[in-house]
Amino acid sequence: MSTIFGLIIQGKLPAKKVFENERILAIEDIHPIAPVHILIMPKKEIRDIHNLDVTDWPLMGEILEVAQKIAEEKGIENGYRLLTNCGKEAGQTIFHLHFHLIGGRVLGSMG
Ligand code: 5GP
Repeated sequence: MSTIFGLIIQGKLPAKKVFENERILAIEDIHPIAPVHILIMPKKEIRDIHNLDVTDWPLMGEILEVAQKIAEEKGIENGYRLLTNCGKEAGQTIFHLHFHLIGGRVLGSMG
């Protein structure tokens, strides 16, 4: 695991953990763009959403479940954004699949 997130998963770099189990880690984004900005990622090394295979569907379902749970814990269940950047042209900068859970303010258009 050679990305920043890989190092965080291995405990070699610090992060503010919000949720963790054997398969999934959620941490606070170091440069939040909203009052709630959490990164939810599989511990399995997957580059991006385009590199998922069919065996990963249960893991993706579990990530959605974790996102719902964190949204409720943070009190943003009435409005939040869950997104993933896939590839450099989409703005992905860390090539370990992760989902941004963003909320806590009125979110503008995706423009
Ligand atoms: P991407 O651009 O790949 O979709 O998202 C990467 C996210 O990781 C960015 O929102 C960025 O602020 C965040 N980030 C970059 N380095 C670190 C770090 O060392 N720790 C944490 N917690 N977040 C980071």
